[in-house]
Amino acid sequence: MGWITRFRYLAGGTLIFLTVVAASHFWSLEVSKNAAERSLRLDLSWIGMHGRLEATTLEKYVARYAVSGTTQDRENARLYYQILQGRLDMWDRGVFKKFLDSRPDRAAQLAQLKRRIDGLSNYFASLEDPAAQRHILAELQTARAAIDGIGGDAHTAGVIESSRAYQDLRQNQRNQNLIFVLVLAVGSGLLAAIFFQNRSLQRAHRTARAIAERNGFLARHDALTKLPNRRAFVASMKAMRGPARSEEDHIGILAIDLDGFKAVNDTLGHTAGDELLKIVADRLLRAARKFDKNNIVSRFGGDEFVALVNLPEGSCPVVIAEDIRRAVEEPVQLGKVPASVAASIGIAVSDITDDPDRNLILDADLALSVAKSRGKGQVVHFDRALRNEIERQRHIERDLVTAINAGQIFANYQIQVDLATGRLSGAEALARWRHPTLGDISPVEFIPIAESTGDIVELGYSILRQACRDALLFPDDIPVSVNLSVAQTMDDKLVSTVATILGETGLPASRLKLEVTESVLMHDAERVVVALHELQSIGVSIALDDFGTGYSSLAYLRNFRWNELKIDRSFVRSVLDEPLDLIIIRAVRMLAEEIGAKVIVEGVETVEQERILKAVHCDIGQGFLYGRPVSAEDLPTTILRAHASASLEYGPAPDSNVKLARRH
Ligand code: C2E
Ligand code: MG
Ligand code: MG
Repeated sequence: MGWITRFRYLAGGTLIFLTVVAASHFWSLEVSKNAAERSLRLDLSWIGMHGRLEATTLEKYVARYAVSGTTQDRENARLYYQILQGRLDMWDRGVFKKFLDSRPDRAAQLAQLKRRIDGLSNYFASLEDPAAQRHILAELQTARAAIDGIGGDAHTAGVIESSRAYQDLRQNQRNQNLIFVLVLAVGSGLLAAIFFQNRSLQRAHRTARAIAERNGFLARHDALTKLPNRRAFVASMKAMRGPARSEEDHIGILAIDLDGFKAVNDTLGHTAGDELLKIVADRLLRAARKFDKNNIVSRFGGDEFVALVNLPEGSCPVVIAEDIRRAVEEPVQLGKVPASVAASIGIAVSDITDDPDRNLILDADLALSVAKSRGKGQVVHFDRALRNEIERQRHIERDLVTAINAGQIFANYQIQVDLATGRLSGAEALARWRHPTLGDISPVEFIPIAESTGDIVELGYSILRQACRDALLFPDDIPVSVNLSVAQTMDDKLVSTVATILGETGLPASRLKLEVTESVLMHDAERVVVALHELQSIGVSIALDDFGTGYSSLAYLRNFRWNELKIDRSFVRSVLDEPLDLIIIRAVRMLAEEIGAKVIVEGVETVEQERILKAVHCDIGQGFLYGRPVSAEDLPTTILRAHASASLEYGPAPDSNVKLARRH
C-alpha cells in the first residue's frame, strides 16, 4: 500500500474518530447537564429537612410559651409559624413540587397539610389562650407526621439522587478523561502521520526534483558522452552570437566527423565503439578547452561532433582545428586492442558582416562534407568559393539522372598507340557531360559525385553500351577500353550486364577492355577478383588503371592475372626529370612481363617522353601526343593525324590500317 493510500485511510479513520468523539462529548455534556440538574435535587433533602426542623422548632416554641408565657417565646412561635407556612409554600414550587408531583399522594398530602397549617392562623393570633396553645400543639403533632413523612422522603430521594448524580458525574469525568486521552493519542498519531507524510512528501519532492534534473540534463546532453546535445549547443551558440559581442571577437564552428569509426564498430563491436566515442569526446573537450575554457564541444549523434570555439582577434580557427584533429588521431587502446581513428573537420567562422540568419552549423557541415570527399583527416574552411563549389555539386547531383537518361553524358574516345609500330592499338572511352547551363563538366568532377550518389552504376553501363556500339565502327577492329567504377565491380549483375551489352551490340568480347583502379580491390577483393575472372572467362580483358597511385600493393598483382597495367600519368610527366620515375616504369615493365601483362603509359605529351618510354619497352602509349579525347565522329581524323605524325618517326603508315569510321 502506498503512503498516500495509507494516509487516506488514516485521515478517514481520524474523521470517523472525531465524529465519535464529538458525539460522545455532546452526549457527555447532556449527561453532565442531567447530573447537574439532578444534583439540584440535593435541595430536596435540604428543603425537606428544614421543613421538618422548622415544624419541630415551631412546636418547641409553642410548647415553651405555654409553659413560660414569655413574649419572646410567643413571638418566636408566631415567627416560626410564618416560616413553616413559607416553607410549605416553597414545597409547592419548583424542584420540590416536581418531586411531589412524581407521587400524587404526596401532593395531596401537602395540600391537606397546608390547609391544616393555614387553618392555625387564628389560633396563633390568640396564642395567649391556653386552649389555642393546646389546639396548635395537637394540630402540629398530627402535621408533623406528614411533614416528617414528606421531608424524610425528600431527604431520602435527595440523597439517592445526589449519589446517582455523583456517580454519573464521576462516570462522565472518566469518559471525558478517556476522550481526552484518546484525543491526545489520536492527535499525536495524526501529528506523527503528518510528520511522516511531510517527510515522504519531501522525499517524493526530492526524488521528483532529481528526476526532473536528470531529465533536464538528458534533454540537453548526450547520454553516452555527457556532452551537450544539438539543442543545447544551438542555444549556447545563439547566446554567443548575440549583440553583446565586439567586432573583433568571432566564433568558429567546427563540424568534426570521425574517419574509420564504422570500422571500429564493425570489427570490435558496439561496446568498443561507445568506449572510443567517450575517449574522443574527452580528447575533443580537452583540446578545445586548451584554447579557451568557454569553448564548447557537443555530440550531434553517431560519430558527429561539433565544437564552438571562441576566436579572439588574431586567433586562427585552422590552427585550433588541426590541434583538435591531432588530439583525436592519437592512438587509443580499446581494452587490449589498439585502435586509431582520424578526424575530418569543417570550419565555419562567424563574421561581423554575417546575415544573422546564417546557419553556421550548416556551413561547417558543408565544409566537413568537402573535407570528407577529399580523404581522411582533412580540415576544410568554409568560404564563399566553397559555397559556390558545393552549390555546383548539388546542381550536378540534382541533374545527374536526367542527364544520363537524356543522353547528355556521352563517350569521347582517346586513342592508344602501339609504341613499337606506331599503329593504332585501341581507344579509351571517357565520359563527357555537356550540361545545358553549366557547360562542359569534367568527369573528374561528376564521376565522384555519381559515385557518391550511386548513379555511377547506371552511368557506367550507359558509357559501356555507347562504347561497345561505337567500337563496331572503329577501324581495324581495334579494342575499346571502358572505365569501371568501384560500385560497378560490387554490382552482382556486373558480368551478366556486360555480357548482355556485348550481346545486344554485337561487339566481340575480345574487343572490350575494362579498366579498374586499385581501389576496387580495397573493398571486397575476393568478390571483385571472382567477378573480374568471370569477365576474363567470357573474353574481356582487364586493365589495372592509374597503377602506382593507389596503395600499390603487390599482392594485387599476385591475386589476379591482369591483362594490362596502366602506369599513371604522374610517372610519365616527370620521367625526363626524375630518374626514379623511369626506374619505377622500368620495374613495372619487368613485372608486367613476368605476369604476362602489357604496359600502357598514360599522359604521353611529348616526343621526348615517348622516346624514353619506347626505350624501356612500354607496349602502348596514350596521351595528348597522339590525340585528345574526341567524339566518335572526330575519331577518324584524330587517327589519321596520329598516323601522319607517326609516319615521320616510323615511316609511312600502312593505309589499310586506317578506316574512316562512319557514324551510324
Ligand atoms: P583515366 O581513366 O585515368 O583517364 C585518363 C585521363 O587522363 C582522362 O581524363 C584523359 O583526358 C587524361 N589524359 C589523357 N592523356 C593525357 C595527357 O597527355 N595529359 C594529361 N594531362 N591528361 C591526359 P578525363 O577524361 O578527364 O578522365 C578523368 C578520369 O575520369 C578518368 O581517368 C577516369 O578515372 C574517370 N572517367 C572518365 N570516364 C569515365 C567513365 O566512363 N567511367 C568511369 N568509371 N570513370 C570515368
Ligand atoms: Mg581509365
Ligand atoms: Mg588512368
